[in-house]
Amino acid sequence: MDYYAILGVPRDADPERIRAAYRRAARRDHPDATGGDPAAEARFKRVCEAYDVLSDAHRRLRYDRDSAGAHPGDAWTEPPRTGPAGFEEVFGGFRSGVYGRGGSAAFEEVPSGWGRSGLRPGAPRRVRGRDRELEMDLDLVGVARGGSRRVQFSRLAPCVACGASGEARGMACGDCSGQGRALRPESMEVPFPAGARPGSRLVVAGMGDFGPLGGPPGDLFVVVRVHPHPWFRTEDRDVFLSLPLTPHEATAGCRLRVPTLYGPTTASVPAGVRPGQRLRLKERGLPDPDGGPSGHQYLEVELVLPEDPSEEARELLRRFDGLTGHTPRRGLWDL
Ligand SMILES: [Zn+2]
Repeated sequence: MDYYAILGVPRDADPERIRAAYRRAARRDHPDATGGDPAAEARFKRVCEAYDVLSDAHRRLRYDRDSAGAHPGDAWTEPPRTGPAGFEEVFGGFRSGVYGRGGSAAFEEVPSGWGRSGLRPGAPRRVRGRDRELEMDLDLVGVARGGSRRVQFSRLAPCVACGASGEARGMACGDCSGQGRALRPESMEVPFPAGARPGSRLVVAGMGDFGPLGGPPGDLFVVVRVHPHPWFRTEDRDVFLSLPLTPHEATAGCRLRVPTLYGPTTASVPAGVRPGQRLRLKERGLPDPDGGPSGHQYLEVELVLPEDPSEEARELLRRFDGLTGHTPRRGLWDL
């Protein structure tokens, strides 16, 4: 359909003229005015459709581009609406996170000397787009095993409206401000190695911004962040877990189920361990992503006394002290 013909305006009509033509045609063909004449109703629908497209600057540019060279009356269907506007609605809350540190990743400057003539084949210098950076949150158990994580971000990708040319209807494309590219949401699985270090950067080649006017893309840098674990503390490759014991368990020794990053295991606590002593579970720490030896897991012994022992329990503890002849302050002070 030729929307200009439907409204009876020339192709270069300004918005004011288009609006006036629409009002005139709508008044003439409105069902209320024509008493339900089917031909008028069909006309009215076409008028509304034409005005819908021609009154929106972006859609009009796209229509002009897509219908250029087409014969009047050729079918034209509007492509699905994409681009910054729709993106903002869906990802509005997410954007600040992605841009937090990559905030400089806006438009590159258009290469100097680029202009209308630069659009001709051979003339434009293709500039590589910028790298992007985003953070990936991992939990410690996931890091120990390695795997992949889905990340969502946005990057400048070839503009759909102008086919990355930056030009529509002899003017700068309205969707991309003549840059030939526009923000597009992306979602992808980023693999990370077992033992990935906090602060390390994973490189995903070619997932940065595309350059202006069809230039090749930069890379995506994904910075690893590791969330603190409620039980485990880490020092580089080693993992520490607090191990509270009763006086009896510490004195007599015991076998206990304890958690590791790789699932629970049974640990043998030798008799006579002291608070602060570390028991090592060999190579149950984090793997080295560079192929070195894995860390260990250490159980840090704590002694926990009963909070509110019964009279009988107190009596047993008194007898325990008598039996051991324990004199913990001997030689400590000189009073
Ligand atoms: Zn464009």
